[in-house]
Amino acid sequence: MNQKKPIFIVDAMLGNLAKKLRVLGYDSTYFSSIEDEKLVTVAKNEKRIILTKDELLCKTAQNHDIIAILIRGNDELEQIMQIHQSIKFEKFVMDTNNSRCIVCNGKLQPIEKYRIIGKIPEGVLEREEKFWACDACKKIYWQGTHFEKLQEFVNKLNNRLQ
Ligand SMILES: [Zn+2]
Repeated sequence: MNQKKPIFIVDAMLGNLAKKLRVLGYDSTYFSSIEDEKLVTVAKNEKRIILTKDELLCKTAQNHDIIAILIRGNDELEQIMQIHQSIKFEKFVMDTNNSRCIVCNGKLQPIEKYRIIGKIPEGVLEREEKFWACDACKKIYWQGTHFEKLQEFVNKLNNRLQ
């Protein structure tokens, strides 16, 4: 099935989940503080799936014909599997070209090394070859040491999908 990638709006209590989804390349709006009413409006206008720990918000959303998924627990792997039960993710791929900015949900674009001289630590500049910049907040990314951990996380997720 050639489905469009789902997009999300993530409730305030689930900041870490929002970050993980962004790294995995899922467009995930997140506000550290937002009124339920506004959250429902954004979800409706932008056709976003609501992820929340709030049962009442879930019911309100469903009354507005908005998909809302109730998230339990604090483990991000388990949380993503809870989403999977409702919307059936495709296999996850760890690809920084598709990742979203963990800070602002902007898109990442590859950026040439010479353009970021002075903007990141020199050691990183020497060590790394590939860099990306968020096209919204301009934060600079590289794969670094955390990348292996993320790849491990993605492998665990993919094992659970089968
Ligand atoms: Zn950004």
